[in-house]
Amino acid sequence: MIHLISSLVRKPGRRITGVAGAPAAAVGPDEAASRARGPRTASPGKVAAPGGTSGTVALSVHHLTKRFGARAAFEDVSFEVGYGEVFGFLGPNGAGKTTTVRTLGTLLAPSSGSATIAGIPLAPENGVEIRRRISIMPEAPGLYQRLTVAENLECFASLYEVPVPRERIELALRAVNLADRAGDPCGSLSKGLRQRVALARALLPDPQVLFLDEPTSGLDPVAARDVHELIDGLRQRGVTIFLTTHRLEEAERLCDRVAILNTTLRIIGRPGELRERLFAKTLTVKTLVPLPDPGRVFSGLPGVDGWRQDGASYVIAISDLATATPAVTRALVHAGADVLFIGESRHSLEDVYLQLIDQDAEAGEQ
Ligand code: ATP
Repeated sequence: MIHLISSLVRKPGRRITGVAGAPAAAVGPDEAASRARGPRTASPGKVAAPGGTSGTVALSVHHLTKRFGARAAFEDVSFEVGYGEVFGFLGPNGAGKTTTVRTLGTLLAPSSGSATIAGIPLAPENGVEIRRRISIMPEAPGLYQRLTVAENLECFASLYEVPVPRERIELALRAVNLADRAGDPCGSLSKGLRQRVALARALLPDPQVLFLDEPTSGLDPVAARDVHELIDGLRQRGVTIFLTTHRLEEAERLCDRVAILNTTLRIIGRPGELRERLFAKTLTVKTLVPLPDPGRVFSGLPGVDGWRQDGASYVIAISDLATATPAVTRALVHAGADVLFIGESRHSLEDVYLQLIDQDAEAGEQ
């Protein structure tokens, strides 16, 4: 699969789609049709960075806000994403993730703030130039149900003015393991298979920045793993991926950095950094039977700040792993404890996410 992906995507910085006015972002049929026409105010002279990949920043977002009437879908959001980065965008239902994608994908105008996408400022007059460099795989595949898989891709390849469409359609279908279903009507496909057609469509225009809105939603574990492999392959080729997902283990596995949005941006960083920022360092100790006097074992040890019992195990708050671990081990042996496990406590991205969203819910109740 990785080989196919290599054939499908450009090397970073190389521009393939060169047809003026060609819209490249993958969207549903209605949006695609209107976008193919381009904005009436298109003014190529105002494009700031016609070559696209200027600098190392693929997405730069400053104080961006989108309101629908009095309600803010997202507010005062700022972040940067580097070329070749897989950036996870997480948040609860209604947090503003899809609206952010639609705004950065030029489908919605922001209410305030600014952004640069693939080197081009987000502005109505730059819509066509931005769309040439990005692709969006929306949450709902939005395919023509009566057309076959191949006919759908032909239709979109033509709308996006994809050069050598037949070749790219073939590669895209093979990349998502759908070559043998090319002749099937999309209406006869399962949800997971339609999702794969949507991914193939998103790959057609050879995007520099690929927005994937919940790409594994509703997929079985094997199909989801295929999509993960596809994303890994795209990353290796330097494609920037903006991934919104509710699957936290997916974000932890795939993303270089993640942001958690809950209308405003709550936190941003590498998953490991977020764990360290939110959780104090602790050791977990499990013994065969409860210690008769745990206070005597754990108190006063170097590098140990405190302890608490957590069911059948003990959680030891530590200031320094290298000092505390041997000290705790020695103390347990000295106390004659039958130790089953001793090690640094692991917090998952899910722990980070739940901690932040719970804090928000508590703040909302007060
Ligand atoms: P989910 O995880 O459920 O898909 P999300 O994080 O993608 O949610 P959005 O779809 O971006 O959230 O919605 C953010 C907020 O903006 C919600 O309150 C939603 O109802 C509102 N919203 C989105 N689109 C519109 C619209 N076209 N008109 C009015 N309100 C909208």
